[in-house]
Amino acid sequence: MFKPKAIYFEENIENYTLGKELLNKYKDVPMYKIQSHNNIEEMRKKSNADFMDMKRNLIIGIRKTHRFVPNHKISDYLVPYTSSGCTAACMYCYLVCNYNKCAYLRLFVNREKMLDKIIQTSEKSDKELVFEIGSNSDLILENTITNNLVWTIENFKNTTKGKLTFPTKFSMVDDLLNLNHRNKIIIRMSVNPEEIINKVEFGTSRLKERIKAINKLKDAGYDVGILVAPVIFVDNWKELYTDLIQRLQKDLSNKVKKDVFFEIIFMTYSYVHTKINSEAFPKAINLYNKDIMTGRGKGKYWYKSDVRKERELFFKEQLNKYFPNNKIAYIV
Ligand code: SF4
Repeated sequence: MFKPKAIYFEENIENYTLGKELLNKYKDVPMYKIQSHNNIEEMRKKSNADFMDMKRNLIIGIRKTHRFVPNHKISDYLVPYTSSGCTAACMYCYLVCNYNKCAYLRLFVNREKMLDKIIQTSEKSDKELVFEIGSNSDLILENTITNNLVWTIENFKNTTKGKLTFPTKFSMVDDLLNLNHRNKIIIRMSVNPEEIINKVEFGTSRLKERIKAINKLKDAGYDVGILVAPVIFVDNWKELYTDLIQRLQKDLSNKVKKDVFFEIIFMTYSYVHTKINSEAFPKAINLYNKDIMTGRGKGKYWYKSDVRKERELFFKEQLNKYFPNNKIAYIV
Protein backbone atom coordinates (compact mmCIF):
# COMPACT_ATOMS: atom_id res chain seq x y z
CA MET A 1 0.00 0.00 0.00
CA PHE A 2 1.40 3.39 -1.04
CA LYS A 3 2.00 5.70 1.93
CA PRO A 4 3.05 9.14 0.69
CA LYS A 5 6.00 10.91 2.24
CA ALA A 6 4.26 14.26 1.75
CA ILE A 7 1.16 15.70 0.10
CA TYR A 8 1.35 18.76 -2.15
CA PHE A 9 -2.14 20.09 -2.84
CA GLU A 10 -3.95 22.90 -4.61
CA GLU A 11 -6.11 24.79 -2.14
CA ASN A 12 -9.35 24.43 -4.14
CA ILE A 13 -9.39 20.64 -3.84
CA GLU A 14 -11.17 21.18 -0.54
CA ASN A 15 -14.29 22.08 -2.59
CA TYR A 16 -14.53 18.56 -4.04
CA THR A 17 -15.74 15.38 -2.32
CA LEU A 18 -12.66 13.40 -3.35
CA GLY A 19 -10.38 16.28 -2.33
CA LYS A 20 -11.87 16.32 1.15
CA GLU A 21 -11.63 12.52 1.41
CA LEU A 22 -7.96 12.50 0.44
CA LEU A 23 -7.02 15.31 2.81
CA ASN A 24 -8.72 13.41 5.59
CA LYS A 25 -7.20 10.06 4.61
CA TYR A 26 -3.69 11.50 4.74
CA LYS A 27 -4.18 13.90 7.65
CA ASP A 28 -1.11 12.43 9.41
CA VAL A 29 1.15 13.05 6.41
CA PRO A 30 3.03 16.39 6.04
CA MET A 31 1.05 18.66 3.70
CA TYR A 32 2.07 21.63 1.59
CA LYS A 33 -0.20 24.02 -0.31
CA ILE A 34 0.80 24.70 -3.92
CA GLN A 35 -0.43 27.14 -6.56
CA SER A 36 -0.44 24.64 -9.40
CA HIS A 37 0.25 20.91 -9.74
CA ASN A 38 2.14 21.76 -12.93
CA ASN A 39 4.71 23.95 -11.34
CA ILE A 40 6.16 22.95 -7.98
CA GLU A 41 9.42 24.85 -7.71
CA GLU A 42 10.83 22.62 -4.99
CA MET A 43 10.39 19.58 -7.28
CA ARG A 44 11.74 21.27 -10.37
CA LYS A 45 14.98 22.04 -8.53
CA LYS A 46 15.63 18.44 -7.52
CA SER A 47 18.28 16.40 -9.29
CA ASN A 48 17.63 13.36 -11.47
CA ALA A 49 19.17 11.23 -8.73
CA ASP A 50 16.13 12.12 -6.57
CA PHE A 51 13.71 10.66 -9.13
CA MET A 52 12.55 7.75 -6.94
CA ASP A 53 12.36 9.85 -3.80
CA MET A 54 10.20 12.41 -5.64
CA LYS A 55 7.81 9.60 -6.55
CA ARG A 56 7.13 9.02 -2.85
CA ASN A 57 5.11 12.26 -2.80
CA LEU A 58 1.51 12.65 -3.80
CA ILE A 59 0.33 15.72 -5.70
CA ILE A 60 -3.38 16.57 -5.65
CA GLY A 61 -4.98 19.16 -7.87
CA ILE A 62 -7.73 20.00 -10.34
CA ARG A 63 -7.44 19.04 -14.00
CA LYS A 64 -7.85 22.10 -16.18
CA THR A 65 -7.48 20.74 -19.71
CA HIS A 66 -10.04 18.25 -20.93
CA ARG A 67 -9.14 17.86 -24.60
CA PHE A 68 -9.93 14.49 -26.19
CA VAL A 69 -7.31 13.31 -28.68
CA PRO A 70 -8.55 11.13 -31.57
CA ASN A 71 -6.98 7.69 -31.57
CA HIS A 72 -7.19 4.80 -33.96
CA LYS A 73 -5.91 1.77 -32.16
CA ILE A 74 -8.15 0.23 -29.52
CA SER A 75 -10.06 3.41 -28.70
CA ASP A 76 -11.59 6.35 -30.55
CA TYR A 77 -10.28 8.97 -28.11
CA LEU A 78 -7.50 9.36 -25.57
CA VAL A 79 -9.14 11.14 -22.67
CA PRO A 80 -7.39 13.02 -19.86
CA TYR A 81 -8.71 11.40 -16.71
CA THR A 82 -8.28 11.28 -12.95
CA SER A 83 -4.50 11.02 -12.67
CA SER A 84 -1.19 11.46 -14.40
CA GLY A 85 2.18 10.01 -13.48
CA CYS A 86 2.78 7.00 -11.29
CA THR A 87 4.45 5.76 -8.11
CA ALA A 88 6.21 2.98 -10.04
CA ALA A 89 9.26 3.61 -12.21
CA CYS A 90 9.50 1.69 -15.46
CA MET A 91 12.73 2.81 -17.07
CA TYR A 92 11.05 3.49 -20.42
CA CYS A 93 7.90 5.15 -19.01
CA TYR A 94 6.43 7.37 -21.73
CA LEU A 95 5.27 9.84 -19.08
CA VAL A 96 8.88 10.84 -18.52
CA CYS A 97 8.82 12.30 -22.05
CA ASN A 98 5.96 14.58 -20.96
CA TYR A 99 6.85 15.34 -17.36
CA ASN A 100 10.60 14.69 -17.23
CA LYS A 101 11.69 13.92 -13.63
CA CYS A 102 8.31 15.24 -12.35
CA ALA A 103 6.55 12.03 -13.45
CA TYR A 104 5.26 11.48 -9.91
CA LEU A 105 1.63 10.64 -9.24
CA ARG A 106 -0.82 13.54 -9.53
CA LEU A 107 -4.46 13.01 -8.66
CA PHE A 108 -7.24 15.22 -10.02
CA VAL A 109 -10.27 15.54 -7.83
CA ASN A 110 -12.76 16.97 -10.39
CA ARG A 111 -13.70 13.50 -11.59
CA GLU A 112 -17.42 14.35 -12.06
CA LYS A 113 -16.57 16.89 -14.77
CA MET A 114 -14.28 14.45 -16.58
CA LEU A 115 -16.72 11.56 -16.56
CA ASP A 116 -19.65 13.83 -17.52
CA LYS A 117 -17.80 14.95 -20.64
CA ILE A 118 -17.16 11.32 -21.63
CA ILE A 119 -20.80 10.37 -21.05
CA GLN A 120 -22.14 13.36 -23.01
CA THR A 121 -19.79 12.71 -25.95
CA SER A 122 -20.72 9.07 -25.92
CA GLU A 123 -24.47 9.65 -25.80
CA LYS A 124 -24.36 12.23 -28.60
CA SER A 125 -22.42 10.00 -30.98
CA ASP A 126 -24.08 7.90 -33.70
CA LYS A 127 -21.65 5.09 -33.15
CA GLU A 128 -20.40 3.17 -30.13
CA LEU A 129 -17.28 5.07 -29.01
CA VAL A 130 -14.42 3.66 -26.96
CA PHE A 131 -12.61 6.04 -24.60
CA GLU A 132 -9.05 5.34 -23.45
CA ILE A 133 -8.98 6.70 -19.90
CA GLY A 134 -5.60 5.31 -18.84
CA SER A 135 -3.09 6.88 -21.19
CA ASN A 136 -1.61 9.19 -18.55
CA SER A 137 -1.22 6.93 -15.54
CA ASP A 138 -2.06 3.44 -14.27
CA LEU A 139 -5.66 3.42 -13.06
CA ILE A 140 -5.47 0.09 -11.20
CA LEU A 141 -2.67 1.54 -9.10
CA GLU A 142 -4.54 4.82 -8.71
CA ASN A 143 -7.67 2.98 -7.62
CA THR A 144 -5.86 1.64 -4.53
CA ILE A 145 -5.54 5.26 -3.38
CA THR A 146 -8.74 6.91 -4.63
CA ASN A 147 -11.25 4.14 -5.43
CA ASN A 148 -11.79 6.09 -8.65
CA LEU A 149 -12.14 3.06 -10.92
CA VAL A 150 -14.89 1.62 -8.78
CA TRP A 151 -16.59 5.03 -8.81
CA THR A 152 -16.11 5.32 -12.59
CA ILE A 153 -17.50 1.87 -13.42
CA GLU A 154 -20.50 2.41 -11.17
CA ASN A 155 -21.25 5.81 -12.68
CA PHE A 156 -20.71 4.75 -16.29
CA LYS A 157 -22.74 1.58 -16.25
CA ASN A 158 -26.10 3.16 -17.06
CA THR A 159 -25.01 5.01 -20.18
CA THR A 160 -26.81 3.75 -23.24
CA LYS A 161 -23.67 3.72 -25.39
CA GLY A 162 -19.88 3.65 -25.23
CA LYS A 163 -17.05 1.78 -23.55
CA LEU A 164 -14.06 2.68 -21.42
CA THR A 165 -10.66 1.06 -21.66
CA PHE A 166 -7.28 1.31 -19.94
CA PRO A 167 -4.00 -0.61 -19.73
CA THR A 168 -2.31 -1.67 -16.50
CA LYS A 169 0.79 -3.32 -15.11
CA PHE A 170 -0.82 -3.97 -11.74
CA SER A 171 -2.72 -6.90 -10.30
CA MET A 172 -4.83 -5.29 -7.52
CA VAL A 173 -8.14 -5.90 -9.28
CA ASP A 174 -10.20 -7.49 -6.51
CA ASP A 175 -12.28 -4.35 -5.87
CA LEU A 176 -13.53 -4.50 -9.47
CA LEU A 177 -14.66 -8.10 -9.50
CA ASN A 178 -18.13 -7.73 -8.02
CA LEU A 179 -19.15 -4.59 -9.89
CA ASN A 180 -22.01 -4.50 -12.36
CA HIS A 181 -19.90 -3.23 -15.27
CA ARG A 182 -22.44 -4.23 -17.95
CA ASN A 183 -19.68 -5.13 -20.43
CA LYS A 184 -18.68 -1.50 -20.83
CA ILE A 185 -15.10 -1.85 -19.71
CA ILE A 186 -12.12 -3.33 -21.58
CA ILE A 187 -9.09 -3.95 -19.35
CA ARG A 188 -5.75 -4.53 -21.07
CA MET A 189 -2.99 -6.12 -19.01
CA SER A 190 0.51 -5.20 -20.06
CA VAL A 191 3.03 -8.04 -19.76
CA ASN A 192 6.74 -8.57 -20.21
CA PRO A 193 9.11 -11.45 -19.40
CA GLU A 194 9.78 -11.75 -15.65
CA GLU A 195 13.46 -10.92 -16.19
CA ILE A 196 12.52 -7.63 -17.86
CA ILE A 197 9.96 -6.81 -15.17
CA ASN A 198 12.67 -7.34 -12.53
CA LYS A 199 15.34 -5.32 -14.28
CA VAL A 200 13.28 -2.53 -15.84
CA GLU A 201 9.72 -2.18 -14.48
CA PHE A 202 10.49 -1.14 -10.90
CA GLY A 203 7.55 -1.14 -8.49
CA THR A 204 5.03 -2.93 -10.75
CA SER A 205 3.27 -6.29 -10.19
CA ARG A 206 5.02 -9.61 -10.93
CA LEU A 207 4.13 -11.50 -14.09
CA LYS A 208 2.49 -14.32 -12.14
CA GLU A 209 0.18 -11.86 -10.38
CA ARG A 210 -0.69 -10.06 -13.62
CA ILE A 211 -1.69 -13.37 -15.25
CA LYS A 212 -3.84 -14.26 -12.23
CA ALA A 213 -5.50 -10.84 -12.44
CA ILE A 214 -6.37 -11.37 -16.13
CA ASN A 215 -8.04 -14.69 -15.28
CA LYS A 216 -9.99 -13.11 -12.41
CA LEU A 217 -11.17 -10.19 -14.53
CA LYS A 218 -12.37 -12.54 -17.26
CA ASP A 219 -14.23 -14.65 -14.70
CA ALA A 220 -15.88 -11.42 -13.56
CA GLY A 221 -17.12 -10.86 -17.12
CA TYR A 222 -14.78 -8.08 -18.25
CA ASP A 223 -13.45 -7.90 -21.80
CA VAL A 224 -9.69 -8.37 -21.52
CA GLY A 225 -6.74 -7.76 -23.77
CA ILE A 226 -3.02 -8.37 -23.44
CA LEU A 227 -0.41 -5.82 -24.32
CA VAL A 228 3.02 -7.26 -24.88
CA ALA A 229 4.60 -3.94 -24.18
CA PRO A 230 6.98 -2.49 -24.53
CA VAL A 231 8.99 -5.19 -26.26
CA ILE A 232 12.64 -4.55 -25.38
CA PHE A 233 15.31 -6.16 -27.52
CA VAL A 234 17.81 -7.19 -24.88
CA ASP A 235 20.43 -9.76 -25.99
CA ASN A 236 18.35 -12.83 -25.14
CA TRP A 237 15.01 -11.31 -26.25
CA LYS A 238 14.00 -14.23 -28.46
CA GLU A 239 14.28 -16.74 -25.66
CA LEU A 240 12.55 -14.42 -23.15
CA TYR A 241 9.57 -13.58 -25.36
CA THR A 242 9.17 -17.17 -26.54
CA ASP A 243 9.00 -18.24 -22.88
CA LEU A 244 6.54 -15.44 -22.14
CA ILE A 245 4.13 -16.45 -24.90
CA GLN A 246 4.36 -20.11 -23.88
CA ARG A 247 3.70 -19.16 -20.27
CA LEU A 248 0.64 -17.15 -21.25
CA GLN A 249 -0.62 -20.13 -23.21
CA LYS A 250 -0.12 -22.38 -20.19
CA ASP A 251 -1.41 -20.12 -17.39
CA LEU A 252 -4.27 -18.16 -18.93
CA SER A 253 -7.66 -19.74 -18.39
CA ASN A 254 -9.59 -21.26 -21.29
CA LYS A 255 -12.16 -18.51 -20.86
CA VAL A 256 -9.48 -15.87 -21.49
CA LYS A 257 -7.93 -17.78 -24.38
CA LYS A 258 -11.29 -17.95 -26.09
CA ASP A 259 -11.33 -14.30 -27.13
CA VAL A 260 -8.41 -12.35 -25.64
CA PHE A 261 -6.76 -10.01 -28.14
CA PHE A 262 -3.15 -8.86 -28.33
CA GLU A 263 -1.40 -5.55 -28.89
CA ILE A 264 2.37 -5.56 -29.49
CA ILE A 265 4.32 -2.36 -28.94
CA PHE A 266 8.07 -2.08 -29.48
CA MET A 267 9.86 0.22 -27.06
CA THR A 268 10.36 3.90 -27.77
CA TYR A 269 13.13 5.47 -25.74
CA SER A 270 14.50 9.01 -25.42
CA TYR A 271 17.43 11.18 -24.50
CA VAL A 272 15.54 12.27 -21.36
CA HIS A 273 15.27 8.63 -20.27
CA THR A 274 18.98 8.03 -20.73
CA LYS A 275 19.78 11.08 -18.58
CA ILE A 276 17.35 10.30 -15.77
CA ASN A 277 18.03 6.55 -15.72
CA SER A 278 21.81 6.95 -15.64
CA GLU A 279 21.52 9.18 -12.57
CA ALA A 280 18.52 7.61 -10.81
CA PHE A 281 19.39 3.95 -11.49
CA PRO A 282 23.16 3.89 -12.11
CA LYS A 283 23.37 0.11 -11.72
CA ALA A 284 20.45 -0.72 -14.01
CA ILE A 285 20.80 -2.10 -17.52
CA ASN A 286 21.16 0.32 -20.43
CA LEU A 287 18.09 0.24 -22.67
CA TYR A 288 19.62 2.34 -25.43
CA ASN A 289 21.29 0.20 -28.10
CA LYS A 290 22.80 2.30 -30.87
CA ASP A 291 23.29 -0.72 -33.15
CA ILE A 292 19.59 -1.41 -33.52
CA MET A 293 17.98 1.94 -32.61
CA THR A 294 17.61 5.13 -34.59
CA GLY A 295 16.25 8.66 -34.05
CA ARG A 296 12.53 9.23 -34.15
CA GLY A 297 11.62 12.90 -33.93
CA LYS A 298 12.95 15.20 -31.26
CA GLY A 299 15.17 13.35 -28.79
CA LYS A 300 13.41 10.01 -29.24
CA TYR A 301 14.73 6.66 -30.38
CA TRP A 302 13.08 3.53 -31.68
CA TYR A 303 14.17 0.32 -33.32
CA LYS A 304 15.38 0.54 -36.94
CA SER A 305 12.85 -0.43 -39.58
CA ASP A 306 14.67 -3.59 -40.77
CA VAL A 307 14.93 -4.76 -37.14
CA ARG A 308 11.23 -4.04 -36.61
CA LYS A 309 10.16 -5.86 -39.76
CA GLU A 310 12.08 -9.01 -38.98
CA ARG A 311 10.96 -9.07 -35.34
CA GLU A 312 7.33 -8.33 -36.13
CA LEU A 313 7.38 -11.60 -38.03
CA PHE A 314 8.69 -13.40 -34.97
CA PHE A 315 5.78 -12.16 -32.85
CA LYS A 316 3.22 -12.98 -35.53
CA GLU A 317 4.59 -16.50 -35.87
CA GLN A 318 4.75 -17.16 -32.14
CA LEU A 319 1.26 -15.81 -31.47
CA ASN A 320 -0.19 -17.71 -34.43
CA LYS A 321 1.42 -20.85 -33.07
CA TYR A 322 0.28 -20.54 -29.44
CA PHE A 323 -2.86 -18.42 -29.87
CA PRO A 324 -4.12 -19.38 -33.33
CA ASN A 325 -7.66 -18.14 -32.71
CA ASN A 326 -6.82 -14.79 -31.16
CA LYS A 327 -6.64 -11.44 -32.85
CA ILE A 328 -3.47 -9.33 -32.98
CA ALA A 329 -4.96 -5.82 -32.97
CA TYR A 330 -1.69 -4.26 -34.13
CA ILE A 331 2.09 -4.44 -33.90
CA VAL A 332 3.79 -1.09 -33.75
S1 SF4 B 1 3.37 1.45 -14.58
FE1 SF4 B 1 2.94 2.62 -16.45
S2 SF4 B 1 2.69 4.74 -15.74
FE2 SF4 B 1 3.72 3.60 -14.10
S3 SF4 B 1 5.93 3.92 -14.43
FE3 SF4 B 1 5.35 2.02 -15.48
S4 SF4 B 1 4.89 2.65 -17.60
FE4 SF4 B 1 4.87 4.51 -16.32
